[in-house]
Amino acid sequence: MTDGAEPYPGTDAFGEPDDRDMSPFSVTGDGDFDTNLRPRSLGDFIGQPRVCEQLELVLAGARGRGGTPDHILLSGPPGLGKTSLAMIIAGEMGAAIRVTSGPALERAGDLAAMLSNLVEGDVLFIDEIHRIARPAEEMLYLAMEDYRVDVVVGKGPGATSIPLDVAPFTLVGATTRSGSLTGPLRDRFGFTAHMEFYEASELLQVITRSAGILGITMNREAGAEIAGRSRGTPRIANRLLRRVRDYAEVRGDGVVTLDVARAALRVYDVDELGFDRLDRAVLNALVKGFGGGPVGVSTIAVAVGEEPATVEEVCEPFLVRAGMIARTPRGRIATAAAWHHLDLTPPAGALNASFGVRVRDDDTLFGPDL
Ligand code: ADP
Repeated sequence: MTDGAEPYPGTDAFGEPDDRDMSPFSVTGDGDFDTNLRPRSLGDFIGQPRVCEQLELVLAGARGRGGTPDHILLSGPPGLGKTSLAMIIAGEMGAAIRVTSGPALERAGDLAAMLSNLVEGDVLFIDEIHRIARPAEEMLYLAMEDYRVDVVVGKGPGATSIPLDVAPFTLVGATTRSGSLTGPLRDRFGFTAHMEFYEASELLQVITRSAGILGITMNREAGAEIAGRSRGTPRIANRLLRRVRDYAEVRGDGVVTLDVARAALRVYDVDELGFDRLDRAVLNALVKGFGGGPVGVSTIAVAVGEEPATVEEVCEPFLVRAGMIARTPRGRIATAAAWHHLDLTPPAGALNASFGVRVRDDDTLFGPDL
């Protein structure tokens, strides 16, 4: 990576997001493994069939015309494959990828330097694009639409604006909260993909593929057990696989069987539904601390000693998807299932979450009886 495309804080040399926003038993130093495990082509990419089909059309269309694809926005909770897809987009187009993030683009000048170094066809990947600073965002509008930036030199009345051409490029933005994107920025993306949590069968494929790459001997039942506890998230599936492998190598003969997987997951505090300590802390706070709610997410975050963004973007989407909590205009509410999960009797009138919950990072969810 060159020309200002240095990895930003929180990523490794490959732009791989670090573990800061994932489960409490994250282990650093596994980045290299994850990089090996990244799917390299759309054919390699497991799950998200709709997104893959749509993306394939976008890319094939651009290839047919000999142009650059429209700007692409990938939205969804962490670990679902947004960075991997950005790299695949570049790979499928035979283009180079430049990686940065919203928080790294504090000053418009940082973005101008990056944009002016782009070569025709390059993919510019901006992770956490919802956190981009306003001046950089405004510069991005012009760059995305007209392949041009206006660099302001000087200050006050003597300031002048120098227009600079930018080579035609494709911006791939990733966000865990597309709802926080401003309208003008969102409108400039030609294609938006909403990544969904993965089915257990898809995670089993991810785990089986990873076990093959890492040379792990694992039987199918063990793979299915890990898949079922991976919170619908490939990054967590790979992480749990590595922890189970450690256990198998240290306490057993290296072979990952169902018993080994279960014993290892017990050690790492991952329960049958895949909830980790933070998930359980959130449920406990909501149910035991606030009588099941409704309560605001920042109050829950204070109660569990976490950043509100982590609770909202990492924990909550999966707990909603699992039917444990519901987001309502008045705050978060524990469903009857949450009470049962904590071995408690739900109060009369507790929300029954047997409705088909669909989760998207930017949705506000209402149960039918709210
Ligand atoms: P995000 O950018 O959404 O946080 P990543 O693209 O960094 O997620 O994915 C995290 C890890 O999960 C990757 O390194 C890769 O190993 C694995 N992964 C993600 N999506 C898939 C997939 N569809 N198939 C196989 N592995 C995947």
